[in-house]
Amino acid sequence: MPIADTLTRRAFLRDTLAAAMVVGSRAAIQRAAAAQPAGDAGHTPWYRRAYLWGQTNITENDPVRYDIEWWRRYWARTRVQAVIINAGGIVAYYPSRFPLHHRAEFLNGRDLFGELTKAAHDDGIFVMARMDSNRAAEDFFQAHPDWFARDADGKPYRAADKYIACINSPYYDEYLPDVLREIIERSRPDGFTDNSWAGQGRGSICYCANCSARFRQKTGAALPRKADWDDAVYREWIMWSYARRIELWELNNRVTRAAGGPDCIWSGMNSGSTTAQARSFRDLKEIAKRAEIMMLDHQRRDDDTGFQQNGDTGKRVHALLGWDKLAPESMAMYQSGPGYYRVASKPAAEARMWMIAGIAGGIQPWWHHVGAYHEDRRSYRTAEPVMAWWKANESYLIHRTPVATVGLVWSQRNTDFFGRDNPGELVDAPYTGFMHALIRARIPYLPIHVDDIDAQGANLGLLILPNVGALSDSQADSIRRFAGRGGSIFATGQTSAYNEWGDPRTDFALADLFGAHHVGDVPRLRAGRRRDSDGDSGGAFAPSPSGHTYLRLSPELRANVNGPRAGDEPTPEGARHPVLNGFEETDILPFGGTLAPLRVEPTATVPLTFVPPFPTYPPETSWMRTPKTDIAGLVLSERGRSRLAYMPADIDRRYAREHLPDHARLLANIVRWALGDNLPLTVEGAGLVDCHLYEQPGRMVLHLVNLTSEATWRAPVDELIRVGPFKLTVRLPPRQPARRARLLVAGTDRPIALAGGRGTVEIASILDHEVIVIE
Ligand SMILES: [Zn+2]
Repeated sequence: MPIADTLTRRAFLRDTLAAAMVVGSRAAIQRAAAAQPAGDAGHTPWYRRAYLWGQTNITENDPVRYDIEWWRRYWARTRVQAVIINAGGIVAYYPSRFPLHHRAEFLNGRDLFGELTKAAHDDGIFVMARMDSNRAAEDFFQAHPDWFARDADGKPYRAADKYIACINSPYYDEYLPDVLREIIERSRPDGFTDNSWAGQGRGSICYCANCSARFRQKTGAALPRKADWDDAVYREWIMWSYARRIELWELNNRVTRAAGGPDCIWSGMNSGSTTAQARSFRDLKEIAKRAEIMMLDHQRRDDDTGFQQNGDTGKRVHALLGWDKLAPESMAMYQSGPGYYRVASKPAAEARMWMIAGIAGGIQPWWHHVGAYHEDRRSYRTAEPVMAWWKANESYLIHRTPVATVGLVWSQRNTDFFGRDNPGELVDAPYTGFMHALIRARIPYLPIHVDDIDAQGANLGLLILPNVGALSDSQADSIRRFAGRGGSIFATGQTSAYNEWGDPRTDFALADLFGAHHVGDVPRLRAGRRRDSDGDSGGAFAPSPSGHTYLRLSPELRANVNGPRAGDEPTPEGARHPVLNGFEETDILPFGGTLAPLRVEPTATVPLTFVPPFPTYPPETSWMRTPKTDIAGLVLSERGRSRLAYMPADIDRRYAREHLPDHARLLANIVRWALGDNLPLTVEGAGLVDCHLYEQPGRMVLHLVNLTSEATWRAPVDELIRVGPFKLTVRLPPRQPARRARLLVAGTDRPIALAGGRGTVEIASILDHEVIVIE
């Protein structure tokens, strides 16, 4: 059956159905039947129905060895509904009419992209054509030297033997759209994605004639001479660069939809890391407003953030995108770190857990192999069982609403203008510390963008602001409105000490909620590059890696005390604040950071005070020089129903860095105090388990992901270790009597005990994960 540009979609579907019936593949018939053409009544576009994905990332020598029939069987085994096929960009996998469009070295005139697209369509599988489009070879550069990025001296930016195309040049405005149209005319893919669509990143300013002219036209200024976060022109360049990527997103969609029909979308790939998004000017919030589907290129865990970061990514992306849209994610089946082996199989347990953690956060799995032929055949066994399980339980894994009472606030502008050259320390680590502490305590949370607090905060009882230094006045107002409605706040570090550009304020914008004020000037953020060697974290209050400091646990001290008072020591048992529960046997906690003095409102409570650094070595010198201060490490207050916690101590960052259980307990205690009893879920039983709770009409769906392993904090995991038993208690929606709990992994039912609007279920054990449906 020829797939030509004259063939209508309807005819294609008719033929596909017929072909499917001939081969008798029930799955193919279902897929083909589901692929209803645009314009039909009740039309659900393909990109809302393609749940399981696959990608064989074609290498230049694959045209002589690509066994299409073998891969079709693999598509069927893994139940994929959509595949990503390399089309063009840096390398073309079809005989392009553009002479400078570099053909794969071994293509030899073959239309591999077209053949694969036809095979997929024949099998009822949707096709996203993959572009990888930000650089070109020497001949292209010589033909269009004005299309390529230049440094301040006018020299072209290069990557190995290739030249980097300028994002503001006709390469993006004219050439790539022509390539997209050619691919659509030839092979009719269902949509497009692009690996490196956002072009050159923040680290390299382009000074080519296109950029100079466009920037001057937009701002009236010359391009910034260097990265300087305090320079208004550099800030404009940052925002101008973001805007250009959004412009290209819209341009590419206009092009592909005009040529390929309204469902022929273009959706460039995005990262699960906000810092990576910021480095490449991909504004996740603005993109999510425009994306019909979020294509995530986020292939593996980091040791610091663990599998759970993928669950976080799923929830963070869906909070922006909506839970009705899909967010498939490329998941490496090859060893992708530590150690990078493109054609060796990733240990199955490692690849499987990354998939499962993402699925728990609402991500759709997408296997990714590099090359079409592998001598390590083990990688072909990893995805199949996960995807077969997904397919069998599809109805529980889509169209659902997350349930949580804690919102973890983030914003990409904070990563840009507060994080500056050190977002890892200033932004990511505090966020990660909370992520880990909440998961360790099994407290469900949702990432929430700071600009969505008014729209999405209604069901939340607590907002956590992990060192969100840069906040605009209107963002601070929305947080204040949340507290005004009775919501609780837990903020740390330099939250709200800077405006949206990272310029210091005279005091915290949220000082009224904190019950505490800066003493003296808020320091300027450092504009310079991070120096790893000295632990510079880009501003004052920087914790020194050797900061040998502590926090002292106080009885309910009132602020403004001028030294010890009666009853201050020894600590009477039971007199302490509930946020110190579990620390009955100690009067100090390790801290490791530093903090600045505050002026604390007299109505606030200070349960922790700072113990300044003293030597660690030699041991004879290791005694506290100043055992007590009135420097607050934590400030608590209550206003109406709101409970307000401000913690100047960077316990969140410390926990991300050092994993001390005391820090996790302290963070969790404060969260529980701030929430009152407003927790939708409790899980009892030993182990590190990531819990994700969802609601569907008439039922609750709870994912428990077992992160307990011999390699919890160091990839790769080889052996999965069973944990259990667990006792789960879930708050049930009113007027929905639960009758049974179904375990989607164990495949059994469990009884539910109902009491006080909650259902309790006991489960024996979990190996990799369990999904409990209460209905
Ligand atoms: Zn340029």
